[in-house]
Amino acid sequence: MDSFREKASSARKKKLKELLLKSENRICADCGAPDPKWASANIGVFICLKCSGVHRSLGTHISKVLSVTLDEWTEDQIDSMLQVGGNSYANTVYEAFLPKDYVKPTANSSNEERTDFIRAKYEMQEFVKPSLRIVSSKSSTDSPMGSKHGHASQSFKSEVGMIEFIGILKIKVTKGTNLAIRDFRTSDPYVVLTLGQQKAQTSVMKKNLNPVWNEELKLSVPQEYGPLKLQVFDQDVLSSDDLMGEAEVDLQPLITSAAAFGDPDSLPDMQIGKWLTSDDNALVEDSPINVIDGKVKQEMTLKLQNVESGEVELELEWIALNQ
Ligand SMILES: [Zn+2]
Repeated sequence: MDSFREKASSARKKKLKELLLKSENRICADCGAPDPKWASANIGVFICLKCSGVHRSLGTHISKVLSVTLDEWTEDQIDSMLQVGGNSYANTVYEAFLPKDYVKPTANSSNEERTDFIRAKYEMQEFVKPSLRIVSSKSSTDSPMGSKHGHASQSFKSEVGMIEFIGILKIKVTKGTNLAIRDFRTSDPYVVLTLGQQKAQTSVMKKNLNPVWNEELKLSVPQEYGPLKLQVFDQDVLSSDDLMGEAEVDLQPLITSAAAFGDPDSLPDMQIGKWLTSDDNALVEDSPINVIDGKVKQEMTLKLQNVESGEVELELEWIALNQ
C-alpha cells in the first residue's frame, strides 16, 4: 500500500519536474529571476523564493505556494499545473492587459515593488482581460481564472514583504461572552488579531455584548513567530475605538506538537498536545490540540485582560508548509 502510494507520488513529481524544466519555466513568472524553485499550485506559475514570500502573504485563497522539491503535491494540484502549462500561458492570462510602458519587477527589485506588482496581478487581477476579471464565487477553486478573490481577502490585510513562512494559521473567531459596556448600555464589538506585522479583523457586531461571529481569519506564520494577540474593540463613530480587553495566545504548543506528530493526514483522530492554563495566561481552561479528519485543531476560551469582563472563543487550525 505504502510503496504504491510512493510510486504514484514519484510519477506525479516527475511530471512536475518535466514541466519545471521547460525553458519558459526556468525564470520566475513575476520577476524573471532565474531558477525558480517554488510554484503557486492554484495559479499555475513557477516563482522564485522572494516572490513566493509575497504570494504566501496574500493567503492560500489567492495563491497556494508549494515547493517544487519538498512538498507533497496532490494529484489535483499537479494536474492543475499541467493544465495551465506553466508561466507562458498563465502570463498570457494574468498579464494580458499589462500596459506597454509598465515596468515589471526584476530579480533585484525591492520587496515593495514586488509586492505591489504581485498584488495587482493576482489579487486585484488588474491586467486580466476585463471580461474575465469578475469571478463568480462558486467557480472552481483550482482554475487559474477561478481564483477567488473578494470577500475572504478583504479581511486579510498583510503588510509583510519577503518573509519565510512556516505555515498558515486559520483562526475562527466563534463568539464573545459578557463583553464590557463601552457606550451607554452596550457596545459594538469587533476582534482584531495581530501576529508580527500582520493583522486581520472580524466584522463589527452592533449593540451586542454576546456576539456570535463565526468568522474565519487567516494569518501566515513566520519562522520567528511570537504570540498571537487578540484585541476586542468597540466601534465608536465619533471618537477613536475603545479597547474592550485583550489576550495573547501562545502558538508554540500547537505548532510544536503538530511538528512532532508529522503529516496529520496520516494520523487517526487523536489528541496530540495541550496548552495549559496558568496564572499568567488568558486561558479559562486547558486547551487540547487535536487531529480531527486529518487537520490539526485547537479550541480555546480566553478571558479578556485589562477589562472588567468578557471572554472570547476561538478555534485554531494549523497548516504547516514544507513538512
Ligand atoms: Zn520572482
